[in-house]
Amino acid sequence: MNRIDLKVPYVQKDQAKQLGARWDGENKVWYLDMEVISDLEPFLRWIVHIELEENDPTIKSNEFFIAKSVQSCWKCKKNTRVYSFYLEEYDSIHVHDDKVFWMQNDLPTIIEGVEFLNPEALEAMEVVTGSYSNDYSKFARSRYYMNHCENCKAKQGDFFLHCEPGNAFCPVTKDEVERITIYRG
Ligand SMILES: [Zn+2]
Repeated sequence: MNRIDLKVPYVQKDQAKQLGARWDGENKVWYLDMEVISDLEPFLRWIVHIELEENDPTIKSNEFFIAKSVQSCWKCKKNTRVYSFYLEEYDSIHVHDDKVFWMQNDLPTIIEGVEFLNPEALEAMEVVTGSYSNDYSKFARSRYYMNHCENCKAKQGDFFLHCEPGNAFCPVTKDEVERITIYRG
């Protein structure tokens, strides 16, 4: 479930409930289950907004994993191992109109388009592979951390690995899913 916590004054709790907010008795907080809430507008006054500065993190997690897969290089056609960060629970930035706030996610995901990295996470990745580094993508017109072919050093961009069905991190068959191995970071 993806959720957004709310700061609801006690006197407004019935109103929040009526609009669809849920009560987390363990953490004593009202929240929105984003799978059932389609309109954030009525809740905006209870959502804690933040100011996002340039280079501030947009994803936070207490723990991370590294996903390994294999890809046939678009350039030399040889197989190369490729890696990505995999998160089971994380907070991510959510933007609604001009309002910015954190959302909690617990649907596991493989992260793409990583522009900035916590040094610890980068070091963990560097222990596993020497071919993951910050580089320029003509396709995305930006720099981000990407894989490079083990054989010919060609860039293996995230769109190629994550968005093309059947490729390393976009499996469509059981066999393709089984190519992915998850390691604790
Ligand atoms: Zn290659």
